[in-house]
Amino acid sequence: MERENKSGTSTSQKRKQLFGTNGVRGVIGKDMTPELVFTIGRSLGDMRKGHLAVGRDTRTSGEVLINAVKAGILASGCEVVDCGILPTPALQYIIREHFDGGAMITASHNPPEYNGVKIIEPDGTEMDDEETIKLEHVIFSRSHETVEWHEVLPETYAPHLIDEYVTAIVDHFPEKPGKGITVVVDPGSGPACLTTASILREMGCRVLTVNGVMDGTFPGRLPEPTVEGLEVLSELVKQSGAAFGVAHDGDADRAVFVDEEGTFVEENAEFALIAQTMCTKRGVIVTPVSTSKIVELIAKNHDCSVVYTPVGSIYVARTMRSLIEKRSDVIFGGEGNGGLIFPCHQFCRDGGMTAAMMVKILASEKVSLSRLIKQLPERHMIKDKIRTTEGEKVLRMLRSVYAGAKTDETDGLKIFRDDSWALVRASGTEPIVRIIIDSPNIAESRIFYQELMEHILLIGKTS
Ligand code: MG
Repeated sequence: MERENKSGTSTSQKRKQLFGTNGVRGVIGKDMTPELVFTIGRSLGDMRKGHLAVGRDTRTSGEVLINAVKAGILASGCEVVDCGILPTPALQYIIREHFDGGAMITASHNPPEYNGVKIIEPDGTEMDDEETIKLEHVIFSRSHETVEWHEVLPETYAPHLIDEYVTAIVDHFPEKPGKGITVVVDPGSGPACLTTASILREMGCRVLTVNGVMDGTFPGRLPEPTVEGLEVLSELVKQSGAAFGVAHDGDADRAVFVDEEGTFVEENAEFALIAQTMCTKRGVIVTPVSTSKIVELIAKNHDCSVVYTPVGSIYVARTMRSLIEKRSDVIFGGEGNGGLIFPCHQFCRDGGMTAAMMVKILASEKVSLSRLIKQLPERHMIKDKIRTTEGEKVLRMLRSVYAGAKTDETDGLKIFRDDSWALVRASGTEPIVRIIIDSPNIAESRIFYQELMEHILLIGKTS
């Protein structure tokens, strides 16, 4: 079973057996089956009685699984509304506006053979750890009762609700900042084919698309928007004189960019650039411990502060909500992977909103995206993973090696030194230790990385 949760550090995360940080995922026919999704639907219906909404991305297995989850929900006595193919943030927005919860059939950035389920709460956020553990109890209890014939409620279709999501984003930009700006959109054959180009056109942009036809075989590129996968997008941006190119992952809760020269914008720099625009007043930015210090540097420049969370967008979204309840001025949040959360819009990652915000930035700054990125503080990251079954032992040994250093254990072990940090996290689901180094320059990153690797390899030899 593939799980997006890679940390395995939080107690509640460990207690989850089926779900990762962003839902449950697996390979179709192997560990992701219609039977499992039916049971998830039935258990969700048992737990969240009411009016539930479902949607899916473009994967070929989507139709089978959405019918399975709908059958489960209906069998539990709930009413279900099928919103059709749409981005995860679109379903989240629709649920917040109209429903008592629901489920999204998606495997996000995973390859085409995967699919999965994300559970959405009435407020549009993904289900938190505590509620997910309760849902798993219901799933594993196998004590579901199918409602009697006269208690079964109807299924309805509402594919038009996606328009409300598009309009909600466009309404954040009444000045139509896109006039005179050309953008190339790469929805990667996913559900953003139905939304991002429309959003940007309604903002006044001239829009070209690549991989703009929905296709669950993903003929143009894989659902993960990597530098290699975005070569066609880059070329089209250069040839068309576009201001930038934007690409989404398989369910469009993330957006990544290429600048006007066709160069990939590293996602932490994207986060920092957009944070710079969001920091118009004193406030708080929320992000996981794995995000580059570039965001903190931008925040400081604008008299803002950063609150760090465990790795996973749900922790960012929930922390934003709880800080707001404590009357903190939370102005922005997100992860260093193109998944950004705009509290003025909704408390989940939103790729369409992120693309729209980039148009606003370019319209107001009146310089190129490449120039804006060059003006940001310089940071350099190394990301690596090591295969070992001794993850917890590695962390224990590193704690003693770096006992005198400033450290943080929000998620894994984060070691601070001068202007650099290193994060070491043992996966809870795979025999892997993940390492991230973040420094002001490549030389310091490499030195810190080498030092860390020497300790880790030594531990490997002594274990
Ligand atoms: Mg995603």
